[in-house]
Amino acid sequence: MVVGAGLAGLFTALKLAPLPVTVISAARFGEGASSLWAQAGIAAALSEGDTPEAHAADTIRAGDGIVEEKIALLMAREARERIEDLLSYGVPFDKDLEGHLALNREAAHGRNRILHVKGDTAGRAIMHALTEAVRRTPSITVLEGLFARDLVLHEGRVCGVELAPGDKSLARSFVLPANAIVLATGGAGQIYAVTTNPREARGEGVAIAARAGAVIADAEFVQFHPTAIDIGRDPAPLATEALRGEGALLINAQGERFMRAIHDDAELGPRDVVARAVYDEVMSGRGAFLDCRPLGASLPEHFPTVTAACRAAGLDPMRDPIPVVPAAHYHMGGILTDSTGRSTVNGLWACGEVASTGAHGANRLASNSLLEAVVFGARVAGDIAACWRPAAPQAATQITQLSPVENMMASSDERAERTLRLTMTQEVGVIRDGASLRTALATIAGLEGELAGDRRLANMLVTAKLITAAALVRQESRGAHFRRDYPLPDERFARRSYLTLDQADAIAREVSEAAAASGRAALSA
Ligand SMILES: Cc1cc2nc3c(=O)[nH]c(=O)nc-3n(C[C@H](O)[C@H](O)[C@H](O)COP(=O)(O)OP(=O)(O)OC[C@H]3O[C@@H](n4cnc5c(N)ncnc54)[C@H](O)[C@@H]3O)c2cc1C
Repeated sequence: MVVGAGLAGLFTALKLAPLPVTVISAARFGEGASSLWAQAGIAAALSEGDTPEAHAADTIRAGDGIVEEKIALLMAREARERIEDLLSYGVPFDKDLEGHLALNREAAHGRNRILHVKGDTAGRAIMHALTEAVRRTPSITVLEGLFARDLVLHEGRVCGVELAPGDKSLARSFVLPANAIVLATGGAGQIYAVTTNPREARGEGVAIAARAGAVIADAEFVQFHPTAIDIGRDPAPLATEALRGEGALLINAQGERFMRAIHDDAELGPRDVVARAVYDEVMSGRGAFLDCRPLGASLPEHFPTVTAACRAAGLDPMRDPIPVVPAAHYHMGGILTDSTGRSTVNGLWACGEVASTGAHGANRLASNSLLEAVVFGARVAGDIAACWRPAAPQAATQITQLSPVENMMASSDERAERTLRLTMTQEVGVIRDGASLRTALATIAGLEGELAGDRRLANMLVTAKLITAAALVRQESRGAHFRRDYPLPDERFARRSYLTLDQADAIAREVSEAAAASGRAALSA
């Protein structure tokens, strides 16, 4: 069973054919996945003179000292074959006039290596091709409108998934058994108030794996995209980095290019540096804007998604600077997996954003996440296929909708969810410190204490707790994790972090006992 119907889940299912696979899709099949929204494209060292070794070196540099080098190298080496797979599924990557694949450059890549589709529509095109390929594959059954809430274990091995129809917390759940279970549930952006991720990206995969005993790695590393479009939409539309690559400038309300004083590469500095600078401008009241006027009349053709999002909000990006804000965008951390996608729990694999393979370290290199999804999707499928005997294929692909998906987003406790999301943005966001992280852990504990059976919220709280506890333990700044009280990297922390849910609970308990003790001391004084 593959839980999640984004790029990682669908690619795994296709690679498992003709083995019978059930894919669980939370939203309607082909919707509700970050993969759909990927704008820039997918990285692969395919241009003349480029090599997988150079791609891996850029990945390792971006990851700020804690990338698993072997993993980065195997990912870069397997990119060519996986791109060939995507082409064979019908992905219409842009080509140059001679018919060769066209490759763009993105920040922190030393070469042109981003495959793209019609400007900024790569994700949609890739997902369209894959959903069509799945429809043509009779060994795959898709169940729509189901959310995984928990894993079922028997003698230490995962043997089923508890699924709830729709998103209503009080709906009856049921268990679907499976011999091998792959979590491909994507990211956790929705536990933050400001995010680019779709509503389904609530980090539930991390939570249910952690509850089953899985080790969670690098949870503290959340990448904030510096330029989400600040027009009050949830999720916030993205102004892709490629805009700055093409000449768009970051200015404040006074029209000052604030990045010039902060980094030699100004607007093209590392994503985390730009995110913190934008955050500072917004928090100081000066505001931050992306000025796309230097792109001229080519903007709507090259960036149709961004242009449409601005126009829908009454902005003309060819005339008005776009208001921007940093937003939770990508979770480098997740379920610890080995090079075949196996988690630390028997019978459980993970791939895509929900997994932590070690490829991204403290900061993901742009366009490496789609690549990671397909490289490890294929590896998971290979590992499962190696220990399985094929069953007879079915006559036709089945897509079954088990519950009305229209009411998916009803929550039994929207107030608590809002509190959690605001707390994560304010206290565990672009800039954190010990005090803010302890405040967040106390808020999470309080919300856990008030839970009234909302399993979805319970899962969000577990993932939030893992991220916050890991951030508290890492007393340094590295990559996307910036601590105001420890602003520099510290060699003693130049390694990945590993955390179980029991350990995160113990950290949260310690924090609340320390707070209670200091409260008592203050009272008696
Ligand atoms: C706006 C935006 C632009 C991006 N641009 C790029 C880019 O240009 N290049 C790049 O490499 N990366 C980009 N990324 C990141 C990249 O899109 C994601 O990391 C990647 O698509 C993750 O794929 P996935 O299959 O792991 O997750 P997703 O595509 O998010 O799929 C997860 C699936 O799991 C389902 N799901 C979630 N929870 C549950 C549950 N409890 N039960 C059942 N199902 C569940 C979801 O509905 C979905 O079907 C971008 C991300 C965003 C948000």
